[in-house]
Amino acid sequence: MVENYSLIKEMKEYAEENKIPIMLDDGINFLTNLVIKHQPQNILEIGTAIGYSAILMALNDKNVKITSIERDHERYLEAVKNIKKAKLEDRITLIYNDALQVELDNKFDLIFIDAAKGKDLAFFEKFAKNLSDDGLIVTDNINFHGYVLMKEDEIKSKNLRSLVKKIKIYMDFLKNNKDFTTTFYDVGDGVAVSKRN
Ligand code: SAH
Ligand code: MG
Repeated sequence: MVENYSLIKEMKEYAEENKIPIMLDDGINFLTNLVIKHQPQNILEIGTAIGYSAILMALNDKNVKITSIERDHERYLEAVKNIKKAKLEDRITLIYNDALQVELDNKFDLIFIDAAKGKDLAFFEKFAKNLSDDGLIVTDNINFHGYVLMKEDEIKSKNLRSLVKKIKIYMDFLKNNKDFTTTFYDVGDGVAVSKRN
């Protein structure tokens, strides 16, 4: 655990230096607590980055198995390295691909969506069939650095405006979804937890 502590510190420093958007401290605490509470047998993560959130979930639940998808080669390789250092190769399986190209037929008790923010809806619709009956879908960055809470004309960048619009469409989709009930938590960068009805 002492070894892991320095690995986690190292990963946070690497993420900061290389501008990799790993989860914020209170967001990751929220997520690991959810894992501890719900004891999922297996988790699907969309957006591994360097393996930070996957490693923390695995360290907090000795039984959980995680499949995580990353499309960026450099980050994928960094995640492979970190998972090896944490000795979690037997519990974390990485897939190097665009998640929208990946077909999985097994079921997961928790699906964690933390990849391209404009594609949350596409990920949700694609992988909902892989969720076990009483599983949870957790989506990170639902506040997107506070921009989602701003008025549209206050956001100067056009790209950012369009991204925020997509996140809002996704939030409306979750709010109006008849098959899922979603709770939005103002922790970290905003986390949505959706449970099948
Ligand atoms: N979950 C990580 C952070 C992920 S950052 C953590 O908290 O530690 C988001 C990652 O999603 C980026 O590394 C990005 O390359 C990846 N990504 C974005 N779109 C993707 C897609 N369509 N398929 C797979 N990975 C994607
Ligand atoms: Mg995130």
